[in-house]
Amino acid sequence: MSDAVIDVAIVGGGVSGVYTGWRLLTADLSHSRLTSDKPLNVQLFELSDRIGGRLVSLDPPEMPGIKAEFGGMRYLTNQPLVAGLVEQLGLATRPFPVSGPENIYYVRGQHLRQAEFANPDKVPYRVRWQERGKTPGQLIMEAIDVLIPGATKLTPAQWLDVKANYKFNGRFLWELGFWNLLHQVMSSEAYKLVMDAGGYNTTMTNWNAAEAIPWYLSDFGPEAQYRTVIDGMESVPRTVAERFVAAGGQIHFGSRLNTFSRREDGLIELQIDGRSPLLARHLVLAMPRRSLELLDDDTQFLLHPDVKPLIPTVTPHPMFKLFLCYRYAWWQDAGVNNGRSVTDLPVRQVYYFGSEADGPAVFNPELRDSLVMASYDDGPFVGFWTGLAEQGHSTTHCFPPSDEPRWNRYACPPAMVAHAQRQLQLVHDLEYIPEPYAAGFQDWGQDPFGGAWNSWNIHVKAWEVQEKMVQPLADTAVYIIGEAYSGSQGWIEGALETAEALLQQKWGVKRG
Ligand SMILES: Cc1cc2nc3c(=O)[nH]c(=O)nc-3n(C[C@H](O)[C@H](O)[C@H](O)COP(=O)(O)OP(=O)(O)OC[C@H]3O[C@@H](n4cnc5c(N)ncnc54)[C@H](O)[C@@H]3O)c2cc1C
Repeated sequence: MSDAVIDVAIVGGGVSGVYTGWRLLTADLSHSRLTSDKPLNVQLFELSDRIGGRLVSLDPPEMPGIKAEFGGMRYLTNQPLVAGLVEQLGLATRPFPVSGPENIYYVRGQHLRQAEFANPDKVPYRVRWQERGKTPGQLIMEAIDVLIPGATKLTPAQWLDVKANYKFNGRFLWELGFWNLLHQVMSSEAYKLVMDAGGYNTTMTNWNAAEAIPWYLSDFGPEAQYRTVIDGMESVPRTVAERFVAAGGQIHFGSRLNTFSRREDGLIELQIDGRSPLLARHLVLAMPRRSLELLDDDTQFLLHPDVKPLIPTVTPHPMFKLFLCYRYAWWQDAGVNNGRSVTDLPVRQVYYFGSEADGPAVFNPELRDSLVMASYDDGPFVGFWTGLAEQGHSTTHCFPPSDEPRWNRYACPPAMVAHAQRQLQLVHDLEYIPEPYAAGFQDWGQDPFGGAWNSWNIHVKAWEVQEKMVQPLADTAVYIIGEAYSGSQGWIEGALETAEALLQQKWGVKRG
């Protein structure tokens, strides 16, 4: 056993973990509950060889200046923590376009452009009269407005009240499933249209309606604009990690936490792969549900009757991303260059990521290496693609680090590329598209993540679990943070919210 006791041990090098460490080491702690005569000893343990967790921004081969976002790819300008952090770190950003009038929808074997939703005869769904001529976004907003009149104008404080007290047909919203509710106010054809042309399946599943409704509204709100970090979203946690280390923090890679226990004297004993047991005054578990479940079965803390029922209150949702690199942006032949196209084929969402700024073909600016996210999918579609992956393929358990370009870990097998190519041809209605020169994919169902995002289950009072999760047992200095048990699931913002809840509410660390 090492003699030195770590003041704060953080396990998990995703954005919530590094952010917590950096904030602790750079804040004025004089009025906090962590005051000490000596500088705080804060150490972060990460099982893989990198910082970032579900933020992975890779350099596609031979394509300088373009990042392939295999994980989170954008933030909303109305998300104060992430937007403020990006600004504080001085990271350059740009708008992240999602849809324009020319974007393609290929559903039920028919092509239409975004602008054509206004023409009901072009939309191959037998929706009700009052649902005709509307985009998927408009359909969902109108359904929500019927369920909770005035929902779009509620303040965050009013939302807390609605979540706890609003009833629909005599039942609290948190007792109802989002799908069940939508079924009462939307035709089933409109629901299918929103699912097919909205691009996501898991966000439309039967998750906790009290959480799903404000979650949808924050995305579709009138003031919401998407932006991204030019150097890649991964540069957010990486830059935070650099500053954490500069402020005296330590990061240990290849360090998987197996289990931990609380000693009689209140210190936490950590068992980390390949190390003698370590002692910490505080332990922060900055990880999602699946990672918690992968800790040793006999971890007493997780078996405690006040903790055990909290863990399965959320459901992880796998998602899949596939990137293809081409010598030129062939999709311009189909009249699209920005944002995304959507289909009910297994590729689901196609995002045009752009062309390198200075390609070799300087005499013809159209001939520049170009990147497309050929598939962004979830729900039942993930299985289509993972069925084509090599057995045992994993991009997450990589230690020790190797000198190989990171992209190589993500390389696609030929059958996966062939399926994607065929579907891209169909979506863009083109006889010919060129062969890609490189291809990479990521399956977010793999361990230790178990999913790209997590959703609150029905019958859970999420606002209560969120609060409990930060410190499930009052007499034990173990904290659980991260996107999974947050009020903004699926977003970096959610991960940061839980980190701030720990820093401010449990430790009394103010924001500067
Ligand atoms: C496909 C996809 C698309 C997304 N899109 C967006 C988006 O556009 N915008 C947005 O804001 N967010 C998006 N997100 C969500 C965002 O990426 C996450 O909310 C955020 O990165 C989660 O951070 P975290 O710290 O909670 O957890 P994670 O990033 O999951 O970090 C957990 C860390 O813990 C480590 N770990 C796990 N178990 C152990 C152990 N036993 N010992 C040591 N280390 C361990 C893991 O290796 C990992 O590094 C997306 C995510 C995905 C996957």
